[in-house]
Amino acid sequence: MSKKYCYLFTEGNAKMRELLGGKGANLAEMTNIGLPVPQGFTITTEACTQYYEDGRQINDEIMAEIMEYIEKMEKITGKKFGDLENPLLVSVRSGARASMPGMMDTILNLGLNEDVVDVIAKKSNNPRWAWDCYRRFIQMYSDVVMEVGKKYFEQLIDAMKEKKGVTQDVELSAEDLKELAMQFKAEYKAKIGSDFPTDPKEQLIGAIKAVFRSWDNPRANVYRRDNDIPYSWGTAVNVQSMAFGNMGDDCGTGVAFTRDPATGEKKLMGEFLTNAQGEDVVAGVRTPMPIAEMAEKFPEAYDEFVKVCNILEDHYRDMQDMEFTVEHGKLYMLQCRNGKRTAPAALKIACDLVDEGMISEQQAVAMIDPRNLDTLLHPQFDPKALKATEPVGKALPASPGAACGKIVFNAEDAKEWAARGEKVVLVRLETSPEDIEGMKAAQGILTVRGGMTSHAAVVARGMGKCCVSGCGAINMDEANKQFTLAGKTYHEGDWLSLDGSTGNIYDGAMPTVDANVGGDFGRIMAWADKFRRLKVRTNADTPADAARARSLGAQGIGLCRTEHMFFEGDRIAAIREMICSDTKEQREKALAKLLPMQQGDFEGIYEAMEGCPVTIRFLDPPLHEFVPTEEADIELLAKDMGKTVADIKAIIASLHEFNPMMGHRGCRLAVTFPEIAVMQTRAVIRAAINVQKKHPDWNMVPEIMIPLVGEVKELKFVKDVVVKTADEELAAAGMNMKYLVGTMIEIPRAALTADQIATEAEFFSFGTNDLTQMTFGFSRDDAGKFLPAYYDNKIYESDPFARLDQVGVGKLVDMACKLGRATRPELHLGICGEHGGDPSSVEFCHKVGLDYVSCSPFRVPIARLAAAQAAIRDQRQ
Ligand code: PEP
Ligand code: MG
Repeated sequence: MSKKYCYLFTEGNAKMRELLGGKGANLAEMTNIGLPVPQGFTITTEACTQYYEDGRQINDEIMAEIMEYIEKMEKITGKKFGDLENPLLVSVRSGARASMPGMMDTILNLGLNEDVVDVIAKKSNNPRWAWDCYRRFIQMYSDVVMEVGKKYFEQLIDAMKEKKGVTQDVELSAEDLKELAMQFKAEYKAKIGSDFPTDPKEQLIGAIKAVFRSWDNPRANVYRRDNDIPYSWGTAVNVQSMAFGNMGDDCGTGVAFTRDPATGEKKLMGEFLTNAQGEDVVAGVRTPMPIAEMAEKFPEAYDEFVKVCNILEDHYRDMQDMEFTVEHGKLYMLQCRNGKRTAPAALKIACDLVDEGMISEQQAVAMIDPRNLDTLLHPQFDPKALKATEPVGKALPASPGAACGKIVFNAEDAKEWAARGEKVVLVRLETSPEDIEGMKAAQGILTVRGGMTSHAAVVARGMGKCCVSGCGAINMDEANKQFTLAGKTYHEGDWLSLDGSTGNIYDGAMPTVDANVGGDFGRIMAWADKFRRLKVRTNADTPADAARARSLGAQGIGLCRTEHMFFEGDRIAAIREMICSDTKEQREKALAKLLPMQQGDFEGIYEAMEGCPVTIRFLDPPLHEFVPTEEADIELLAKDMGKTVADIKAIIASLHEFNPMMGHRGCRLAVTFPEIAVMQTRAVIRAAINVQKKHPDWNMVPEIMIPLVGEVKELKFVKDVVVKTADEELAAAGMNMKYLVGTMIEIPRAALTADQIATEAEFFSFGTNDLTQMTFGFSRDDAGKFLPAYYDNKIYESDPFARLDQVGVGKLVDMACKLGRATRPELHLGICGEHGGDPSSVEFCHKVGLDYVSCSPFRVPIARLAAAQAAIRDQRQ
């Protein structure tokens, strides 16, 4: 049977989101449960992928089915495209499986031409409305379908308003709007070279193609990459009969949430604009009224809306984000979805829903986006500084967090300034989806216009980025890159601080303090810990980092990069002395200086981890990273070592390598200079002995990790040195302490020969940073230069250094686990590459049976939650 590409709203349901997209599936579901939904049909995501497969064409089969569904829709609504009695007007909206607010395109009022405008003007006795619809349609169609920039039309509107001496669109008369529509058509013809299409079916096909095409627009591509949404999903298209919010003062349109998306508080929250269409609210062009006012102006529609909200929350068991329209006092639902929310709101809503008996603890854990937690864990303004400072302005607290940076006025500048290391705050009249990369680059966003559901607010919230919106007190002069607020003129580059939780704006740079988590966060984390199988460790090199990670729930250290402590104070001098030594004796003398320092560091880390396991990795980077580059430092080193400057320079030159990342580093250092491994083993074992003596109730089992192994014999060589030294130390101390010697699996050959490696290694830790680098054959430091071209050309969808490449690198990991455990069934397995804190990679680690993931301290809660979700999904499947 051939595929079905179109579904009436009456034919679908909420479970069909893969095929119908989120919007289509929910429109069908709302229809099924009897809510007032203007009817229509959904063209499936498979039609979109087919469109791309066919070289961006709608093939005959799909086209025929769309035509058939137009007829079905005409029958259901009793209206007909282009009809002079009862014309059908539709909206055409995108809707992917995962919601991507504002990233793709929408067209309203489709089906209009001058004849139809005349008909609806007469029938409604409302020519102003009819012409307003038409000019909006021409504008949107030209922008979205034909890619004539919006600005040309906006300039015409501004000119018209000026001519008429009015400030608001709603003050323009029917005649003005008609004139505008004609101007728009002329503009269209001037830009495109042909007349504006009059045939509704032609308009519809153009619009459908535009929505399909918008799946591949740059902002959608960026959004998808940030949100792990595969390109292969495609978007559905919803063709829905129009309900009109712009027919007069008894009409309007709104966006609302069943709970506050910023705080999670259980109260209806939203915005409503009378005599307007949907895009007016979302675009933030006019600042709307709070939803409560709707209760006064439209009591019946409001009551019905409240009922619908309750039905929807009860049905979906989650906070709903809804779009609706009131046409002559009657309510129509245009969309519902699980609302995007801030991290604190996500936690509160999940906990409240459990307390309300709506969902289980497991469902609560499953509903939180782990990446969202990041925002909870980041700094806020220092309360003392806040108390001592008066804000210079206040606007809507659109997305929480603290941001301070230098003012920039456009997305391009934000990107450029951030790329050169500046912290910036992006200040805009209003943001549009094109600004997404600039918003990403900025610390925070401040807009002059727009409400809590404006583009800036929704996108910033999704990014977890501080945003203050709708600051009407700002007098903006974008052209000259300046604005005035509270009597002061701010220029590009001036410092500004934003508090996205209160909406306050502060002059200058305000100090911040670390985040403080508790309450709902603690409850969710405790639930997550009940469900997960994977342990979560941290990558920490100092006692302070270790303590922070511990407070965030780390169950051990998966990677302590010992070299990170070598750069401090006296240590760098000792390590340079070691590197520049001529003989083993000289090296040992320098290493002897390092020994007590390393031992002290390890003791501090052991203390901070309170007896939890700690994996210490031996020296890894190429030695040239430690040698001095400044003349004065070279002279000092020469003097200390009794050598000439020329000697030292010669040594430094000799350390030069063409490919240092594939050069003399990792275990190769210990093969050539075993005394380094001897010193590090002593430091680890002595530290463990001391801490064990101090805490007899802890069971210290030091874990020594040999990096960059590719051959079992090199591991054995270094391990023999470690074991001999450790046993000597333990014997000397009269201690009988267990310790483990394991290896990182970060060279493909180690993965391929993991069965052999496991004969020596007592644990594996996957170093997926190097393993990715060496598997792909491109440098982790340089790939940033060319990866963007790979994204643009759809060769890679995400950065393989951030998100584990499960197909290639993952295959090596899986294989190494199996081979390793075949040799040594009790082999302990973990990951310590950056991927250990990435949710999709954590899920992979769960699936291949690792014992733990290890990630940076701030990502520990993310990994705990992701691990729980992986276990829950696994159980459900
Ligand atoms: C790795 O390669 O994944 C790893 C954790 O080691 P490093 O990043 O220090 O090379
Ligand atoms: Mg490595």
